[in-house]
This record gives sequence, structure tokens and C-alpha cells, in this order.
Amino acid sequence: MNENSNSKFIFVTGGVVSSLGKGIAAASIGTLLESAGLKVTFLKFDPYINVDPGTMNPFQHGEVFVTDDGAETDMDLGHYERFTNFIAARANNFTTGKIYFNVITKERRGEYLGGTVQMVPHITDEIKKCVLDLADSKDVVIVEIGGTVGDIESLPFLEAIRQFRFDLPKDRTLYIHLTLIPFVKAADELKTKPTQHSVNKLREIGIQPDILLCRTDRPIPHEAKRKIALFCNVAPEAVIIARDVDSIYEVPLMLHEDGLDKIILKNLNLSAGTSDIKAWEDITHRVKNPECRVKIAVVGKYVDLKDSYKSLFEALIHGGIANKAAVDIQWIDAEEVEKIGPETFFSNVQGILVPGGFGNRGIEGKIASIRFAREHNIPFFGICLGMQCAVIEFARNVAGIKGANSTEFDEKADQPVIHIMPGQEGVEKGGTMRLGAYPCVLMPNSLAYHSYRSALIYERHRHRYEFNNDYRDIFIKNGLAISGIYSEKDLVEIVEIKEHPWFLATQFHPEFKSKPASPHPLFTSFIAAAVKQLKNSKQ
Ligand code: GLN
Repeated sequence: MNENSNSKFIFVTGGVVSSLGKGIAAASIGTLLESAGLKVTFLKFDPYINVDPGTMNPFQHGEVFVTDDGAETDMDLGHYERFTNFIAARANNFTTGKIYFNVITKERRGEYLGGTVQMVPHITDEIKKCVLDLADSKDVVIVEIGGTVGDIESLPFLEAIRQFRFDLPKDRTLYIHLTLIPFVKAADELKTKPTQHSVNKLREIGIQPDILLCRTDRPIPHEAKRKIALFCNVAPEAVIIARDVDSIYEVPLMLHEDGLDKIILKNLNLSAGTSDIKAWEDITHRVKNPECRVKIAVVGKYVDLKDSYKSLFEALIHGGIANKAAVDIQWIDAEEVEKIGPETFFSNVQGILVPGGFGNRGIEGKIASIRFAREHNIPFFGICLGMQCAVIEFARNVAGIKGANSTEFDEKADQPVIHIMPGQEGVEKGGTMRLGAYPCVLMPNSLAYHSYRSALIYERHRHRYEFNNDYRDIFIKNGLAISGIYSEKDLVEIVEIKEHPWFLATQFHPEFKSKPASPHPLFTSFIAAAVKQLKNSKQ
């Protein structure tokens, strides 16, 4: 615990309804503070009982974001990384389940010396410890509390953050509450009552927010701002308007225009430099003024819930930013491709991407899509499961290995070109995943090498199955280049086809490391190929 460091703590809560974009708000606060020259870190508390988000269904929970140190975390950590220089790790995300797990483990070890273990102070102390452990060497710790004020589940977290104001001098803590100001059509009026109720709920718990971020779909008249300030007991300049915007990358600029950074710095008594947000102005300008539009088909399983592929979606947009292109993503259900064939889906796209996934639903549709991309010279990018499908497709249709499959889809596959590595079989499911960052050596003169302009890269993994090295020679002989290797275990990480405009697939997830300010090299290169495809088709 480090109560004595000089770090400041910002607590971000949400009220009225869920999905107001608390993660983006917290991330944008980080952007603004970094622009003012401060060092920030983040912590996300998730009020559900699961010990980590790794085993949760992406349909319900959105993407599992993987960190360098191999933690499976909430997708908000992805927002934090994309908006700032922060690098997420295991210690930056805790669920209620994990907090209880830690407390119960201590109790079993006898660390509470037979005392009665209670919500307050034992659970709340554990929560406070997670916050204070992050304080070292950073100027500001931004703590986001998941859920909505009023939920039973978030109460212990709110009680813990309430105590900070008493434990520390006032200028070391700041409470920011995100709410909604809905427009009611029948009355032709913006309504501030839900915000008042939500702030009252917080005050019942003992937290008086210092700043309100008000989501609205239209400008708020000055009068309404004053009313909110009066009823919610905050300074008028602490009512910040967060209007709906077209791109999430506009959010930091919008909050800056309404003075959010100024009031945060004032409250925390921080004498930071003047904010330099030029980079974000440039990003927004590029997003809003593309020189062309490319269509990229993403063939997956969770296409109805776009949040399941959040980082991928953003990485494609970043690839567009690098190429001054807008990327229109067409989400295609792999099972539909299986039913009616690929022709109908891909006649007018400039790129096809098959992302990561688990289980065998839609696999043959993904394989058919990859075949279509390969045979019709459409740029193709495969990621994790997408790479495994590309290997199977190449085996079956080019290398003549008819029974090629992954043992994930057919345990008794005749030709297991993708398999669980020897020594890993039979280990319990949770134990076998390759998680987190691994080094990868790139072959000179490969597409991968030219994209990264580097011979050694580090990328994040989350998978159980691997390329089967018994088949390596036959693949190479048939024209599948192996351009990235994890040397220590001699594992194949990247494959590509030379005689193709752009065909590359990776065992790792490059999307986790892409940012609007530094688009990932593979996404930049893939979208460049799509732009070229578009230009050729117009000639
Ligand atoms: N299901 C595959 C595996 O476990 C791929 C995982 C993924 O795409 N993240 O290896």
C-alpha cells in the first residue's frame, strides 16, 4: 500500500442507464491528462462474481481483452490503451469475484486471526488495496467502477471509494459521474431529473460528485447547465457536456472544449503544462475527411454483437486512418456463407478478414470465404482461428491434404494440420491457453517483415491450438510461406502466400496493440492493399 505517494485518484461512476460510454469517458480523461504532461494509469472494477472475464461468453460480455502479461480482462482496458500510453496488466482489472477470492484465500490462510470477516472493512480494504497498489510512479490513477449507481453489485466498490475522501487530503481525490440528459419529444424538452436522481443516489451512499459528465444528443442551453449544477450541488463549470459524436476519437477534443481538463487540474491542484491535443485533432480530421472508402468483410460467429470484436473493429479503423481511407466493415455470419456460398457476399469488397474464435460453428463457411479470397486475389487477413482456418484451407485445396482439419473441430482428424501441442493434451481447459505477449522472429523479405520493418516483434496470444510442424515441409513446398516463428518452441506464428496481392494470417492477435495514434503495421498494410484493390477495380 502506498498512501504516502503523491498520486491523485479520479473515480469514474455512471448513472441513469448503462452503456453511456464510461470506458471511453475514463480513457478520454487519460488522454487529456497525458496531453497536459501527466503520467496516468487505470483500474477497472467489474461488479460481477466471475473471477475473471476470460471464461465469459462474448455474446454477453463483449470482447476479452488480453494484456502483455497474459491476463484476460474487460474490454474497457482496450479503450484505455488505445487512448493513452498506458500498457494494461493483470493488476488493472478486478472483478467482485476476484476481490472475494483474495479475501477468502487470506481467511483460509488464517491471516485474519480468527476475526469475523466482513464486507466493511475486509472487502472494502481489499478494494482500496487494489487502487493504492497502482499509485507508485504515476501522477494520476483513474478508477472506473463498472455498472450503474443503484445496482446492488457495485455497492462495496462505491463504499470503498467513498472512504478515500476521508483517508486522503481533499485535493488527492476526484469523483466524476457520467449521466444522461434525455430529450423528451412529447415535451420538446431536455430532462435533468434522471441526473438529479442519480446524483442523489450517490449522495445517499456518501459520495458527492465533483464533476458531472452529461451525455446528450444535442447542445444544452446555459440555463439547463445552471439548473443541473444547483440541484446536484456542483459548480456550474463542473457540469461538462458530452454530446453524441460520430467517432469515439472526437470525445477527448469535445471534453477539452468544454473545459474538463481545466477543472480536473484545478480540483486536484495539479500545475500541469498547457494541453497539447494536436495529435487528436489530426486523428479526428483524418477520420472525418477520408480520401476513399474501402469495404472489408469480417466473417465471424459473433457478428450480431459488434463489441465481441471491439479491438478488431478499431484496428481496422486505424488502418484506415493510416491510409486516409474510411473502412466500411461488413459483418458476415460464417454460417450464412456455409449455407449459400461465398459469391453473394464478396463481389464488392476490397478485403476479407477472418477473426479469432472458438468452437466449430461456421468453420466451413470461414474456410469457403478464405478459399474465395485466395482464388479471387482479394486481400485476406486471418487472425488466430482465422489463421488456423487458412492453414486448413490451403492444406485441403492446394497441398492436396484432403482430410486436413484441426483437432479442435474433429478430435480424430485424419490429417491434424492444427493440433494441441504434444505434452499439452489432457491438461484442464483453463490451463492450456497460450496467453499474453510472445516474441516472434520475422523472415527477411516477407510481407510481415516489410509491414513491421523489424525482425523481432512481440504480439499477444489467446489460443490453445497450434500449427502442426509435421506438415511444415509439405506446406512450404506448395507455396505457403512461414514468415514468423516463436523460436524458443519453434512454433509457426505467421503464414503468407507470396503469389497473391495480400494474403497473411497470424496465430496472435495484432488488433490488441493498435492505436489511432500508431496504427498497427499489419492493419496499415492490409488496408493499403484494399485501397490498391479499389483503385485497380476503378481503372
Ligand atoms: N480456438 C482456437 C484455439 O484455441 C483459436 C482461438 C482464437 O482465435 N483466439 O487455438
